Amino acid sequence: MLLKIDIHIHTTNSPDGSVEIEQIPTIIKMKGLDGIAITDHDRFFNEEINGVITIPGIEVSTKEGHLLGLGDVGCISPGLSVDETVRTIHSRGGVAILAHPYDVVRGGIRPSQVTERLDGIETINSKAHPYSLTKYLAEKASKRLGIPTFGGSDSHIPETIGDAYTCIESRSGSTDDIVHAIRRGNAYARGGPSGSISQLKRVGANIGRRL
Ligand SMILES: [Zn+2]
Ligand SMILES: [Zn+2]
Repeated sequence: MLLKIDIHIHTTNSPDGSVEIEQIPTIIKMKGLDGIAITDHDRFFNEEINGVITIPGIEVSTKEGHLLGLGDVGCISPGLSVDETVRTIHSRGGVAILAHPYDVVRGGIRPSQVTERLDGIETINSKAHPYSLTKYLAEKASKRLGIPTFGGSDSHIPETIGDAYTCIESRSGSTDDIVHAIRRGNAYARGGPSGSISQLKRVGANIGRRL
């Protein structure tokens, strides 16, 4: 089955995050997604959310920049090198994906800084700066490394959830099958940058009416 999953979402457990877990099922349905990964900063999330495929996840602040860990990887200390962090994620059976590489504002990791094998690269991050250039460079790196592309909205507010997402061809919606599918490279990025504030407000009003 082909699953559409926004693999990069922050909740109120992240600084500046305003997404409440209770809002997620309605938003996911509105946006036509099948699932999400909650990837709060240095805080592992593995709760079940009603009616939503939820991949356990974390966004780790490594020494070089941000790295997404998906799967049952548990808490991971920030401040380790990216290579050490990738090794930890793999030893716990998870997959490691570079978050917003080449981002100039948020210090995205460049693939050349990583020696360990990555499982994917977030080529579409809806908040990336500058968007087109980071996407272009990340796509080139994914081809060079032979690893799949990922899309994540990096939402800190409900309105932008699903602006980018990842299509994953998986046997089922279980975490094991999804992680397995990612390891085999059965994933690709879709979506684009988050819109202007006025567009976001319109979407927000719409969500407000339905909640
Ligand atoms: Zn980040
Ligand atoms: Zn993030």
